[in-house]
Amino acid sequence: MKNERQSLILKRGKEASLMRRHPWVFSGAIKETGNEQIPDGTMVDIYSHNGEFLGMGHYQSGTSIAVRILSFTPSDEKSLFRKRIQSAWEYRKRIGIAENPNTNVFRLIFAEGDGLSGLVVDYYNGAAVLQAHSMGMYLSRSLIAETISEVLGKRLKAVYDKSKETLHVRHGDVENRYILGSAEESGVVMENGRQFIVNWVTGQKTGFFIDQRENRTMVGKYSSGKRVLNTFCYTGGFSVYAGSCNAREVHSVDSSKAALTIAEENMQLNKITNYENFTADVFDYLQSCGEYDMIILDPPAFAKRLNARHQAVIGYKRLNSAAIKKITPGGILFTFSCSQTVARRLFQDTVIASAIEAGRNIRIMHWLSQPKDHPVDIYHPEGEYLKGLAAYVE
Ligand code: SAH
Repeated sequence: MKNERQSLILKRGKEASLMRRHPWVFSGAIKETGNEQIPDGTMVDIYSHNGEFLGMGHYQSGTSIAVRILSFTPSDEKSLFRKRIQSAWEYRKRIGIAENPNTNVFRLIFAEGDGLSGLVVDYYNGAAVLQAHSMGMYLSRSLIAETISEVLGKRLKAVYDKSKETLHVRHGDVENRYILGSAEESGVVMENGRQFIVNWVTGQKTGFFIDQRENRTMVGKYSSGKRVLNTFCYTGGFSVYAGSCNAREVHSVDSSKAALTIAEENMQLNKITNYENFTADVFDYLQSCGEYDMIILDPPAFAKRLNARHQAVIGYKRLNSAAIKKITPGGILFTFSCSQTVARRLFQDTVIASAIEAGRNIRIMHWLSQPKDHPVDIYHPEGEYLKGLAAYVE
């Protein structure tokens, strides 16, 4: 059931960030009205203390972001979603990511980057997997699914709602399920001509780490003839690229047996033979393994909250230093951080500190980031979350 639209007034002076088009309203900015509590997920119109319309968006209590702005001009909900989804699809067609004969997996909607704060939708060769990060998006899921279907036409066969893991609110009846059409629970998708099995029902996040597509290509470019170690490999994304670009040998490590089972199938699907998979904790593995010519470090977010940032930096330092010690002179380190609270500069300094600790000199070859289907809204720089470095290890 959708809630009726309501209005909210901000405290004096709290309109500044909205005037700069930043799409978040923090709970402390809202003026107490004495009115009844607004239900979570309600669409609210925001006004300044002197009655000026500032924007509209989804309300949520109990989180620091009280309103996620969806538009800075007034609109009805239906036309707003239509406009945003149409624009997201148009963008991906124009930049050559949708309707690409070699790639049929991409992020269709990237939250603030597509003007839809709180919503992520990934496209897997006809199946769209939706994750609502706000109650407002969750309550709008049917409208979103219908609109995606209208915009994509025959290219869409099903929409699977996988919000149970992302909706951090008390809401009893959230179940993952198809909300439009249906599909096999897993499918084979193609990324830059490589095939991957993706299971969006049982897999992590929406099923596949689409955000590493361009970095996987980069890894491929340096793989020929090398002994490659891919850590935190999940279903073997980087391993498939290394193997198909003539790596001498590819070792993949992950603590999840389920992920490695698919990684094994993905290597076979792409006809790669010179590989081995290890179910292990990466920190333990790096203590006892031999040397490699190239090591990839793509850990999960170490710092989800700001107060965990210090711990995260310690984690990145320990990990990077252990890996650098295992790289043969003249080898390459690919290292990533997807922690939103660890900024690029801090991450780079941490990798430098790791090299110093390992007693090795490194040279930075590439600064890496997220691909173009994860665009960053210039008024919401927080949207840049994936940071990476390729470094030459002397
Ligand atoms: N590089 C992958 C995505 C990595 S996601 C790709 O391109 O698809 C992070 C992975 O790290 C998950 O598969 C998770 O199971 C694994 N993981 C988390 N902590 C780990 C640890 N301590 N040791 C080994 N694997 C770990």
